[in-house]
Amino acid sequence: MKVCLPSEYPANFEWMPGAKEILVYDIEAEVCKAAIDQANLIICCDFNSLDRIDKMGEMVSEKENTPVFLIDHHIDPEPFADEVYSDPSASSTCELVVEFLTLLGADERLDRDVAEACYTGIITDTGRFRHSISARLFEIAARLAASGVRDNMINDYIFNSATEKQLRLLGYSLYERLEVLEDYDTAIISLSKDDYKKFAITRGDTEGIVNYMLSMPHIKLAAFITEQPTITKYSLRSKGDISVQKMARKHFNGGGHKNASGGALKISLQKAIDKFKKVLPEYMGSPIL
Ligand code: 5GP
Repeated sequence: MKVCLPSEYPANFEWMPGAKEILVYDIEAEVCKAAIDQANLIICCDFNSLDRIDKMGEMVSEKENTPVFLIDHHIDPEPFADEVYSDPSASSTCELVVEFLTLLGADERLDRDVAEACYTGIITDTGRFRHSISARLFEIAARLAASGVRDNMINDYIFNSATEKQLRLLGYSLYERLEVLEDYDTAIISLSKDDYKKFAITRGDTEGIVNYMLSMPHIKLAAFITEQPTITKYSLRSKGDISVQKMARKHFNGGGHKNASGGALKISLQKAIDKFKKVLPEYMGSPIL
């Protein structure tokens, strides 16, 4: 079995068993291509459309006579897979992986390594059991705990692994780049190409910044907008019934979950901010004057 990712994963996941064997398309395109060519089964995890995995998606869609199985929890999966195990009410794809192992009668495969990998997916997607929680999730977490998951160790690896640069970038984002739109209970943080250069931002450095905006009690919608080399990316979060998934799908060529979505447009940072502000009343009503 080969595991392929479209782009690099953040350094704080390097400790995971098997991480070193993962093939990354951005680094080893030919090796990933060969892995897809040789596959007699393709399992897609945690995305709902092939364009989420960039070039690899084209290879999967062009490959003939190879069954594709999708396991995912995003809303509205596109019909690219032959078999689908999808449930948007699940906290995470890892929750579904554990459930699927049980359905297969393969509970004995849930050794400590597998349990720790699934637990990592659950705590990252739920923000350490703060959202998308359910009785089913806690039952699954209990089973993972019974497999010997080292909760403290994993939390340290994932959440206590910030670099000085990342903390300074967080401080800069909150102090210099935060805009609060009081009338719309909305906040925006934007980072320009110059910011990326100034802080030498790489993948993972901006992880989690969007969530800080929701820590203000009255803020119901948060947008983290970043200017990348060829696109401007939106990372959206909301509280309660406000659907950033609908917003991302309709306006930003994206999607995700009701309260956590993303998208991207090929426009400048300023235009992307303006566009966000323009569509805001559709989701947050008219401002109270
Ligand atoms: P994040 O804001 O952390 O990048 O992403 C939040 C959620 O939105 C994730 O579940 C992710 O899969 C989804 N998402 C982020 N960017 C995009 C995008 O460009 N297109 C789609 N369809 N989903 C996205």
